[in-house]
Amino acid sequence: MTTATAEVPDEEIAKRLTSPEVSNRSVAQELGVSWGRVDLVRQQLGIDTYQRGRRVPEATWQEAVGRRVKAVDGGHAEWTGGRNPNGVPVLSWRSIAETAYRAVFRMHHERDPEGNITHTCDRDHCVAGEHLADRVLRAERRAGGDGGA
Ligand SMILES: [Zn+2]
Repeated sequence: MTTATAEVPDEEIAKRLTSPEVSNRSVAQELGVSWGRVDLVRQQLGIDTYQRGRRVPEATWQEAVGRRVKAVDGGHAEWTGGRNPNGVPVLSWRSIAETAYRAVFRMHHERDPEGNITHTCDRDHCVAGEHLADRVLRAERRAGGDGGA
């Protein structure tokens, strides 16, 4: 009587989980352990779960943001994700926890916002990328506005 499956150390499983392309099932079969055991080790390693033939859901924060932004009339956008107790939209995804404004801004402008983010429209909690401004954009608008030559 042996309990072989209990003797495979996590390290042996971890050694084989080198990328999302390695499936839990193949490792489980190779080592004679359960799928759940492999998945647990994978989670501890922070490796995405392999899924045949389709993309891992929300593999990137951009995708996570995109799914939570809903365009509404007037070029505005609504946040369908979570909110903090003050009603401010927040992105909470994997290790990321920040206001949706910062996340949307970064995605829209492809850079980190500087200073506070303010709205250029008057819709409460709007998350349209074009309606968010950081210190740099505010300065540019002040300098370039009002028909200056
Ligand atoms: Zn807006």
